[in-house]
Amino acid sequence: MQSAGFFDEGQLVGVLTTQPLDRLLDYRAPEGGCHLGAFVEVPLGPRKVLGVVWAPGRGDYDLSKIRAVIRVLDAAPMREELRAFLTRAADYTLTRMPAMLRLATRAPGLGDPPSMRKIYRLGHRAPDRMTDARARVLEVLRDYGGLAFTLKELAELAGVTSSVIKGLVKQQALIEEDSPRDLPFPRLDPDRPGKALTDDQATAADALRIGLRSERYGTTLLKGVTGSGKTEVYLEAVAETLRMGRQALVLLPEIALTAEFLTRVEARFGARPAEWHSGATMTERRRIWRMVGQGEAQLVVGARSALFLPFQSLGLIIVDEEHDTSYKQEEGVLYNARDMAVLRAAICGARVVLASATPSLESWANAQAGKYDKLELTARFGDAVLPDMRAIDMRQEALQTGRWISPTLQRAVAVRMERGEQALLFINRRGYAPVTLCRACGHQVGCENCDARMVEHRFLKRLMCHQCGETVPIPTTCPSCGAEDRLAPVGPGVERLTEEAVALFPEARVATLSSDMFGSARALKAEIEAIGKGGADIIIGTQLVAKGHNFPLLTLVGVIDADLGLQGSDLRAAERTFQLMRQVAGRAGRAEKPGQALLQTYQPEHPVIRAILGGDEEAFWRAEAAERQAAGVPPYGRMAGIILSGPDVGAVFDLGNALARADGPLRQIGAQVFGPAPAPIARIRGRHRVRLLVKAAKGAPLQDALARWTAQIQIKGDLRLSVDIDPQSFF
Ligand code: ADP
Ligand code: ZN
Repeated sequence: MQSAGFFDEGQLVGVLTTQPLDRLLDYRAPEGGCHLGAFVEVPLGPRKVLGVVWAPGRGDYDLSKIRAVIRVLDAAPMREELRAFLTRAADYTLTRMPAMLRLATRAPGLGDPPSMRKIYRLGHRAPDRMTDARARVLEVLRDYGGLAFTLKELAELAGVTSSVIKGLVKQQALIEEDSPRDLPFPRLDPDRPGKALTDDQATAADALRIGLRSERYGTTLLKGVTGSGKTEVYLEAVAETLRMGRQALVLLPEIALTAEFLTRVEARFGARPAEWHSGATMTERRRIWRMVGQGEAQLVVGARSALFLPFQSLGLIIVDEEHDTSYKQEEGVLYNARDMAVLRAAICGARVVLASATPSLESWANAQAGKYDKLELTARFGDAVLPDMRAIDMRQEALQTGRWISPTLQRAVAVRMERGEQALLFINRRGYAPVTLCRACGHQVGCENCDARMVEHRFLKRLMCHQCGETVPIPTTCPSCGAEDRLAPVGPGVERLTEEAVALFPEARVATLSSDMFGSARALKAEIEAIGKGGADIIIGTQLVAKGHNFPLLTLVGVIDADLGLQGSDLRAAERTFQLMRQVAGRAGRAEKPGQALLQTYQPEHPVIRAILGGDEEAFWRAEAAERQAAGVPPYGRMAGIILSGPDVGAVFDLGNALARADGPLRQIGAQVFGPAPAPIARIRGRHRVRLLVKAAKGAPLQDALARWTAQIQIKGDLRLSVDIDPQSFF
């Protein structure tokens, strides 16, 4: 090596590729050499694959067969911090390194030389012949004082066809130039005045600023009721980070939430940040990936995968609505973005802010134990007060079958309609009805591929499986007994509730918000904005509406089935219900008008329902913590879920039993294994699923034991094993 971290031409380098191999591959450094961390293209068999120079080569392979790196890509080498993060994240989640590298390179053509596009600006000659269309083009360019546009933009702005523009270029009235496609993001100005903070908010913002200036790792739980100004406070931390010349990342749980947030960022800093999410175009992803790596994107707002971007100098990570279950990725690499944010920050010396009105028990416990700092905003901003929360005892209500809105709730909605205010009816179920039942034989229509019922989606005129996404036309005859026209929907979903609301309130404008009702994130954003401005009187929504949207005219929230989440054996059932109910109720009364939340329940005496209504949050957390502690489950114990799957149920169980018998490595660390048992959803996409659950004490070296345990058994053929550390849902 010439200098630390540089390999001269011909030296052996160990390359990590995105291919599913268990080891680094040796290559020779190319002409001109390469840096440790360099993104490279290497030959693998007949193919060229992407890789990163990860270490010196091992040289334990036939030296005469070692090939050379094809080329070093035009991208900044991966920094040591990110390499360390990927390694530690892989160890934690028991994921292979190639899968981690794929997460960190999710942008196409990221090593290509910067691609160019044509742009058009004003030239120096007048055209020979002036037409209306030509005059409009020139006028647009003059109006924008020297700015250049792409062909499409200019044609749209001037309302002309592209041939008009091309004609002007020929006449030299316009100049056509090449410009790089991956433009840096506009600078954000942290010194533009923010809102005048309340005392509470200012104290919290100061504490965050002091933390940032220490330039050391630290995590802060920022707890505050919805509307208390958490966002205002953490924007001050973002401002401080930008002043320090470092980069900030804001993670949001839902793409639909970003619209409102981006507008606030623009108002605060004078420009829009980089926006990283699954809806972004490939070109935009590539631009963000490159600009983040060059430090030309100061702030990234995005979904959980933004955590794997190659930041040059990451100083702050905000995890907004940190309790949200969508931070856990449930496919591919099973990781929790909240925990990984803390890991990455610890490695690169950044600060983390976990913001929530209803923190996860994990974060609450870490704050109690002093591992996290805690800041609390108690009041809502301005005159807004927390909604008055009450139960509607459904045992006392006279409700026809096939109806879900109780008379009491109906009267409360009517009052809002008279006052010109909005009401939200919440049900956490997509589709029209969860069950389609044959009245002749009692058969419930299920999915062909999964152990799940088909859910009627009346707007789509189809039945849909929520596990595999399969849809079929709504049948007219029973698939089991063949009876004609005897299939009936049973139970409510969001679409059916809409039907009921329309019937009860024919004058009202009813809007339905459910994730599968909108073709695109953009359409959903537009609908949310329109509703916020008063575009609907009654909103019917799934948990999509529970997350942070601002509906200033909303003063009533009616929860159709507050008991729904309490069923089932999930260890987080109580926590989730508590969070969701508080979150939904928090939608009411965000502006000047006081709000009310009404919870329809058949068990008003249930401890969780009472805790929700009583409002003594600390008491709820303490009770919940005590129960988990007694049971030795997270966050007071460790857990891992093992899901085995395959097309043949017998083979899957055989594998499960073999693993359960070979539990030596687990017993060595005092861990216990439960199962095998059919997973709660015992079949998905034709594959049978069997689950084992491993429980260990808090400090036990669980990953190491799991690795040794699963390595004992060979997984053959069609069988699959996946390990889920700290499982969040049990399906
Ligand atoms: P949270 O993130 O806790 O839900 P937000 O930061 O979104 O709260 O604040 C709720 C509303 O109150 C927003 O419209 C916000 O702009 C406004 N707000 C909060 N604090 C202030 C302040 N100090 N001055 C002016 N408006 C504020
Ligand atoms: Zn299915």
